[in-house]
Amino acid sequence: MNFDIDDADPGFRRDVSTFLDEIVTPDLFERCRRTGTLHDWDLHRSLGARGWFAGGWPKKYGGRGEDGASEMLILSDELERRGIPADGLGMTMLVAKVIQQAGSEELKRAVLPRALAGEIVICLGYTESHGGSDVAAAKTAAVRNGDHWVINGHKMFTTLAHEAEYVFLLTRTNPDVSKHRGLTMFLVPMQTPGVEVRPVWTIGDVRTNATYYSDVVVPDSARVGEVDDGWGVMGVALMFERTDGGADVRLFTDAVRAARSVVTPDGGTLLKNEAVRERLARLAIEREVSTLLRLRSKWAAAQGSRSMVEGSMFKLFSAESQVRAASDLLDIFGPLGLIEAGDPAAPGSGEFCHEFRHSIVLPIYGGSSEVQRRIIAERGLGLPRADR
Ligand SMILES: Cc1cc2nc3c(=O)[nH]c(=O)nc-3n(C[C@H](O)[C@H](O)[C@H](O)COP(=O)(O)OP(=O)(O)OC[C@H]3O[C@@H](n4cnc5c(N)ncnc54)[C@H](O)[C@@H]3O)c2cc1C
Repeated sequence: MNFDIDDADPGFRRDVSTFLDEIVTPDLFERCRRTGTLHDWDLHRSLGARGWFAGGWPKKYGGRGEDGASEMLILSDELERRGIPADGLGMTMLVAKVIQQAGSEELKRAVLPRALAGEIVICLGYTESHGGSDVAAAKTAAVRNGDHWVINGHKMFTTLAHEAEYVFLLTRTNPDVSKHRGLTMFLVPMQTPGVEVRPVWTIGDVRTNATYYSDVVVPDSARVGEVDDGWGVMGVALMFERTDGGADVRLFTDAVRAARSVVTPDGGTLLKNEAVRERLARLAIEREVSTLLRLRSKWAAAQGSRSMVEGSMFKLFSAESQVRAASDLLDIFGPLGLIEAGDPAAPGSGEFCHEFRHSIVLPIYGGSSEVQRRIIAERGLGLPRADR
């Protein structure tokens, strides 16, 4: 296992870091918080325009061939370390990787160059309100009609659907077989007649969406993978999803800065308090562990591992440690921690209350903590299935 990703291209991290220092301002964070959209088009387009999503991708799909294969790893590391919201990039690149593996040639040529150039984002349409964690219970129906498919149904929590060019949609194509069979994936253009998007606001200020599909007609070339093999395609997609996010170093540096600036009744600062230092130390250690688990899961995915265990370990630990960290920060700053960003009295950049509310969703989306524990127990530890 080699985590020394800078070896491949020592100048690239420096270029990314300099560029992000220039372009990312507090306005970007404020805009994302206000709109609830964890994606910024200016940033996304300018990173794509630099060719920074294209390293390691085949030239015929808009990539740069072998050149720069480790760039995306370094770029996402820099974004994650600074806590820069880039959900659009994460979702788009994971679907791009699945299309590369399982999409038709027509789909690859239509979608990959635009995704790699930062021109579009793609959202994920898996969850349905009746099914939740049981994604394979999807009822949204796709029925074949000659060269086309007609889709009817609805999805819940289709995050970024209001910005996306396509939705990567899980559908039921055969209701007469067991639920894990009979599923098929499609890449549906959001502008297709019959697609409707309605906002859903969460306690963490994130805007997600409910999406509705009424007699939506797509060509067979929009299919990703074989008919009725959607569960196999989903497995690849979920593995990629659980290797992103989670190592927000900005929150830690912000907390230390704020603790240093808050004066206590004894004339010292919060940072001098032993209990505060202990909590901040735990936060730092857990961020480091998250970073290592993330690198390990990315490494495993790059080696072709399909076990999903590494991704689940990272997702479980990073989500739960983020909840602990957000809770610790409110404890440390007390009522001051509840003051929202924008108010000069707020400690640090005023993210602590927002972070506390936002952290609640982390152990839910991308597969809940219980679901991750099941994967680790069954596939990693070889324990018997819980429902047998
Ligand atoms: C902010 C947000 C954004 C999201 N974005 C997207 C998106 O872009 N695309 C998308 O498709 N989905 C998205 N989701 C959906 C997310 O993946 C689901 O919420 C998640 O899978 C859990 O489903 P549920 O909320 O219906 O909870 P449920 O499945 O109803 O779970 C309720 C509780 O039961 C537990 N549970 C469920 N099944 C089991 C089991 N087998 N064993 C043990 N415990 C179990 C869960 O852990 C949880 O504690 C998003 C969700 C949120 C909150």
